[in-house]
Amino acid sequence: MKRAKTLEELIDSARLIKMTPEQRREQRIRFAYGHLKLHNPDITRDDVERAAEEVDKGVGVAVYCTTCELWKKPNGRDAAAIIANSLCDRDCPGYMEEPLPGHLWPGEKQEDYGY
Ligand SMILES: [Zn+2]
Repeated sequence: MKRAKTLEELIDSARLIKMTPEQRREQRIRFAYGHLKLHNPDITRDDVERAAEEVDKGVGVAVYCTTCELWKKPNGRDAAAIIANSLCDRDCPGYMEEPLPGHLWPGEKQEDYGY
C-alpha cells in the first residue's frame, strides 16, 4: 500500500512547480477577490479583474485596508493635510498587509509620475 506523502514531501514537490504568468495573475486575482469579498460583499470578480488590468497597465488603483476600513495612502507619497486623517497609513498595522498599497494615486499613470 502506498503511504501518504508527508508535509515536507508535499512542500518539496510544490517548490518545483513553476507558474506561468497567466497562472500567477489568476492566483493574484483569486486571492484578492477572496480576501476582499470577506470584508465587502458587494465586490465582484469583475471589479477585481478590472483593478488588476489597471495595475498591469501601470495605473494606480484605490486600495482598501481591511484592518481600519479606510482607503490606503499610496506608499511613499504624501497626502494633503485635509485628507491625510481619512486615509490608512503606516501607523495602521494593516497598511503593509495584503492588499498592499501601490505608489500611485487612483487613476494616476506610472508615466505621469515618472517611473
Ligand atoms: Zn489601515
